[in-house]
Amino acid sequence: MRSAKLINNKVELIELEKPSLDIKGAIIKVLGCGLCGSDLVKIKHATPETESKIVLGHEVVGVIEDINCKNDTFKKGDIVALGHHYPCFNCEFCKNKSYSMCKTFKKSNIFPCGFSQYIKVDENHLKYTVYKMSDKLKDDEKAFLEPLSCCIRAVRRCGFEYDKDNSKSSALVVGLGSIGLLMLKALKAFSVEAYGFDISQKRQEFAKNQGFEFDKNKKYDAVFLTAGNSKAIKTALDYVIDGGKILVFASVEDDISGFSNNEIYYRELSIIASYSPSVEDLKLSSELLNNNMVNVKNLSTIYSLDNLSKAIDDSFNNRIFKAYIKI
Ligand SMILES: [Zn+2]
Ligand SMILES: [Zn+2]
Repeated sequence: MRSAKLINNKVELIELEKPSLDIKGAIIKVLGCGLCGSDLVKIKHATPETESKIVLGHEVVGVIEDINCKNDTFKKGDIVALGHHYPCFNCEFCKNKSYSMCKTFKKSNIFPCGFSQYIKVDENHLKYTVYKMSDKLKDDEKAFLEPLSCCIRAVRRCGFEYDKDNSKSSALVVGLGSIGLLMLKALKAFSVEAYGFDISQKRQEFAKNQGFEFDKNKKYDAVFLTAGNSKAIKTALDYVIDGGKILVFASVEDDISGFSNNEIYYRELSIIASYSPSVEDLKLSSELLNNNMVNVKNLSTIYSLDNLSKAIDDSFNNRIFKAYIKI
């Protein structure tokens, strides 16, 4: 079977043996996989030492081809979407709900990678990170399960609860790439009054067409940083209310110019980060997508596996909004 691998800083398609069920779990025939911003960061920062360990692609949609563990939820032929990491629920991090910091979480992954014709998942994936998806959704829409769950976690980390009325709270998302727009949609699903800002007029327009405006005269209870640019920190500080929250949701290139200590102190700001989803977030994400409560139609540009390099190039150069690789 074919599978993508980073070799000498280039993404190559290599021939691998189809994975077999040598553990308890399932083989999934991959229908497609979304290209995540974190894949781009991994590619950009790969070194000869790290690149062999890099797993590209985790926003997988597929069909269960074979399953060998007792599981009432899934059977052969089910169409599923999935996340790649699960926590142990036992360690100090897990007890503290810092699931993304759990060693098991960091170690667990799909095999060999999302940009493959087949992947193997284990029984804990089936238990915690794999979800059946509605046949009313197109495959590229199903692939938003994991990215939307990341946004849900960020919204929750900011203190918003799904079953509460949050309509008196406002939030500004700075950076309106695919994850920024998804964050806006997650905030809206949580009933938060959501606004978006991007330095790119094109992206600002795109968000506006999806129903999200920017009000430069307003201050916001929370600002979500999804821009991946340290200049956005200033925007966040300009628009957050005193005593408000800034949620950090992206890495930046130059990590030196950061938050101003005194501004955080005198304005009593809370700086919170959110990195990767927990199991509850994946579950809510599947419900919101399957019940059409978050609409992710027409956000993706579809590429074949042969054109994976072009999808990566187009994403690096902001030519597209979100790439989905059809396998
Ligand atoms: Zn992702
Ligand atoms: Zn743990």
